[in-house]
Amino acid sequence: MPLLLKGSCRCNAVRFEVESHTPVPFMLCYCSICRKQQGGGGFAINLGADYETLKIKGKRNLGVYRAEIEDDEHPQCEISSGERNFCRKCGSALWLYDPTWPELVHPFASAIDTDLPKPPEKVHLMLKYKANWVEPEIGKGDKVFDVYPEESIAGWHRRTGMWVD
Ligand SMILES: [Zn+2]
Repeated sequence: MPLLLKGSCRCNAVRFEVESHTPVPFMLCYCSICRKQQGGGGFAINLGADYETLKIKGKRNLGVYRAEIEDDEHPQCEISSGERNFCRKCGSALWLYDPTWPELVHPFASAIDTDLPKPPEKVHLMLKYKANWVEPEIGKGDKVFDVYPEESIAGWHRRTGMWVD
């Protein structure tokens, strides 16, 4: 059984639940979008879950943010295909949905109320774009990347034995 993740914004105007085979909060993204939208410690943590199981209460309170990206990887300004869903009342960031991978949704660990498994090792990505004051806490076995890792969220869960069937 996949793990049922229950999540909410801070003011409870939006609540959601979704099933996840990949619920371990191991992937810390230090890019400026993650940091500014919901990662005050310098990074955000995205989980993976099955989009077709996503149930939402308070849908009318959702806002969607699509970031403009212009950096070394995107020299021409592009509008991200990623749809970052947030609560329009309290501002909590909730999940990212990208139609490029329509079967997946990426809830932010910060929005989840369910207890999550603790990661045996972590991945730190987009370190090239971290804020200068952020000093990543790199643990034993952690992996670090200037930009993206090659291993997917699913691949990481299978390799570490953390995949939830
Ligand atoms: Zn709210």
